[in-house]
Amino acid sequence: MVVDSIRTGRSPAGTIVEAGLAELGVAIAPSLHQAGIPELAAVARRLGMGFPDRTRALAVEVGGPLIFGAPLSEPVAAAIAPLGRRVLKQVRCWASEDSGRGAVRDPRARAGGHRAPGTGRNAVHDYHAMSALVARLARDPSLAEGIADVRVRASPVFSPDALRQAYQMLTEDTPLSGSRLLVEELTDCRECDLCGTAWAVTPDDVAGHLVICPSCGALAPLDAGAVIELLEIRSHPRA
Ligand SMILES: [Zn+2]
Repeated sequence: MVVDSIRTGRSPAGTIVEAGLAELGVAIAPSLHQAGIPELAAVARRLGMGFPDRTRALAVEVGGPLIFGAPLSEPVAAAIAPLGRRVLKQVRCWASEDSGRGAVRDPRARAGGHRAPGTGRNAVHDYHAMSALVARLARDPSLAEGIADVRVRASPVFSPDALRQAYQMLTEDTPLSGSRLLVEELTDCRECDLCGTAWAVTPDDVAGHLVICPSCGALAPLDAGAVIELLEIRSHPRA
């Protein structure tokens, strides 16, 4: 997490600007004094020092970067508390992602309730999404026949198990039969408006078109909740 001030001139002083390293761009630096974070990352990589693969910069837009003095200008001072909350939210979200990568990855295990794949509250979404995808892939049977793997990225409203099961069911006895569905989970990081908990949403936190806070149970709309992105179609190698 990089916390800094910035002068883009594109937004009023006090605005919090968020960027990844790539978006910061590389500085044309005549000396080390002008080098920025992207240059630092490049040098660290070159020297094999390692550099965090997830980096976010949060910076407060300042009005007069060349004016020296104290205290902070009013708009910048007002941005400090929200900036702190944004930093905390991002760090908690990363922590939540990391703990999710541990040994117990089955999100159903966490809520205590056992749910067989494809029979949960989201099974209808899963099935409909897959039938739309399969219909699209099968439009050209000669093309469908050559497909080995279909890679998608799905938001947490979907259960990867249920998606795979629906895919297999829907492609049976079609030219797509035998092809595999590979599901990547889209990370959806949230912060609860009520209790401030930040976490990465799992299928267990979703009910219909709502997200349930795992700490306090508050409901929030699942905006753009049902996204399945087609990432890649891999064909069988031609003989
Ligand atoms: Zn909450």
